[in-house]
Amino acid sequence: MSSVDSARLQEEIDALAEITEVVPPAVTRVLFSAQDLAAREEVKKHCREAGLTLREDAVGNLFARWVGSEPDLPAVATGSHIDAIPNAGRFDGVVGVLGGLEAIRGLQRDGFQPKRSIELITFTSEEPTRFGIGCLGSRLLSGSLSWEKALALADETGRTLDSWLGDTPYAEKDRGAVRLPEDHYHAFVELHIEQGPILENESLDIGAVTHIAAPAAHRLEITGQGGHAGGVLMPARHDALCGASEFVLALESAAKNSGSPDTVATVGVLQVAPGAINSIPARVELTVDLRDIQIATRDKTWKTATEALEKIAAGRGLVTAGSVINEDPPATCDPGLVESIEVAAKSRGCSCRRLISRAYHDSLFLSRIAPTTMIFIPCRNGWSHRPDEFSSPSQIEKGVAVLADVLAKASTS
Ligand SMILES: [Zn+2]
Repeated sequence: MSSVDSARLQEEIDALAEITEVVPPAVTRVLFSAQDLAAREEVKKHCREAGLTLREDAVGNLFARWVGSEPDLPAVATGSHIDAIPNAGRFDGVVGVLGGLEAIRGLQRDGFQPKRSIELITFTSEEPTRFGIGCLGSRLLSGSLSWEKALALADETGRTLDSWLGDTPYAEKDRGAVRLPEDHYHAFVELHIEQGPILENESLDIGAVTHIAAPAAHRLEITGQGGHAGGVLMPARHDALCGASEFVLALESAAKNSGSPDTVATVGVLQVAPGAINSIPARVELTVDLRDIQIATRDKTWKTATEALEKIAAGRGLVTAGSVINEDPPATCDPGLVESIEVAAKSRGCSCRRLISRAYHDSLFLSRIAPTTMIFIPCRNGWSHRPDEFSSPSQIEKGVAVLADVLAKASTS
């Protein structure tokens, strides 16, 4: 059973958190900022010290490999991200990268010999901060996003990914080699803070992730007829906001009655035009965020809601138009790997339960090319994406220990 050097890992986590665009303890590392690039160098330095073989691809995904005794076999991989949204904390993503490295070092210290190579991946831009799309590196790696679409992505100032990449060390790399084939990895396991309250509430050490929910996001436009709030009598109205309101409730009802407790639907943006106290709403723009772990119930919920919208629009004389913002399929984790987490937790004396990841992770995309799962550890109050995000050294240590066991087992199978 491999050991975890918790003190060293904590020092490395704290040192990485010093590389931030804002005043510590807040961590901001936006894709391709000087700090993002410096943090990558820090991770590379640690990986070199561990004797790992480094490779970077054309979008900046970093691969650090401990070469196994049968290097031609598909490798076992772990990893996460080190980019951070503005004013975030030090653990989101970082626990999976530096913790993944410590899992490898622990196995090395204990004289473990991997048969399959074990690889640590640091994914480019898991956070959507610069280009509005999350998991950029893992999307390209898994073929979930084409280079053509990726290169055209633009930031707030209109600068494209193509242009940004031109100023990085990745400009010269082969873009065709970024996409990895389906048999490239034997398994992928990501260690991550839960970013939710379940493990802490139940005083548990480890979450074995069985599914990763994926959001579908839609934009809707509902157009009616404006007019004077005093002058147009009720029978003559085509009020876009009244129609939108009915739709929001129809969506809520569709999600509640989907037959799955995991369906969630949210209208988080509602823009009313012209937006004056004495003017009948002529047009409403709204967004829908719809998530489930089963694509069938997610899509059925959306169908029910859009059928309701058609009826509402017909009854009120409104015109509707919609577009898809994104629609990623959810992932089911590999049952064998999930069980492997449970077995490892038990043998380490850690309490464990199965969990669903309700947030996006790089694992969602890795699951398309490899058997995948995630190990969750508790974080204080479920808080994440804020400076006071916190998991204790002993909580992290348990996650790393379980990860090491799962990697070791997969690398010899
Ligand atoms: Zn994360």
